[in-house]
Amino acid sequence: EISKRLQTIGDMVKKGSIVADIGSDHAYLPTYLVQKRIALRCIAGEVNYGPWQAAVRQVQAAGLTDKIDVRLGDGLAVVALGEVDTICIAGMGGSLIASILEAGAEKLSGVSQLLLQPNVAAPIVRRWLLEHGFQLSREKILEEDGIIYEILEAVPGDPILPYRNRDKKLEDLLEIGPYLWEEKSPVLRKKLVQEQEKLKAVQHQLQYAKSPEAEHKKREVQKKLAWMEEMI
Ligand code: SAM
Repeated sequence: EISKRLQTIGDMVKKGSIVADIGSDHAYLPTYLVQKRIALRCIAGEVNYGPWQAAVRQVQAAGLTDKIDVRLGDGLAVVALGEVDTICIAGMGGSLIASILEAGAEKLSGVSQLLLQPNVAAPIVRRWLLEHGFQLSREKILEEDGIIYEILEAVPGDPILPYRNRDKKLEDLLEIGPYLWEEKSPVLRKKLVQEQEKLKAVQHQLQYAKSPEAEHKKREVQKKLAWMEEMI
């Protein structure tokens, strides 16, 4: 069975799309998209041989080799210009997602929907979108098996729009997510409280440290905690 996380991403894809899922591993997301008739066709991209092979097997077992093309290669190198209208990148760190988008930036022209699910460092992804002409258009946050996931959707458009006329400044909204902030869901609150607890633990560990690095770190942690206090 597909995870709630992948299903949520899949259900955000526009009906009738042609989708590239980069870092597809077992190709569960493309399988779901084709079986549910959300996507017409998919490309499953994988840079590593093991996961690529797992994807090939999954697609064969599902009888979907005519609809899902499994390709071995780095990031967006597996898609040709204009070949897909939607790109999904899920289950990696935000900086890896941003670097995949950056390295394949020329492949993004003609793409009408990006769905990105950074496991960590979502703010790096929001910032990348802001600086590269993509408008953050939707955000979701969900918890599964005790882990909290964020999903970001972006479309070509006015990248500053989601951050305009809000009650918080740009930097704060990049950190938390403008739509998530607006929604103020219990899951977001839980995530912030968890982060606060981690920072408090770091602060506790550092309390007797006296090196200049430790002093610097202490000030950083103090600053972040004060910020979190304000946001929660
Ligand atoms: N997308 C799936 C999901 O969300 O469940 C799989 C996530 S898995 C943790 C991350 C996958 O990304 C791994 O299979 C890894 O091989 C692949 N990957 C990492 N860097 C990549 C890159 N530059 N291009 C393509 N795939 C990459």
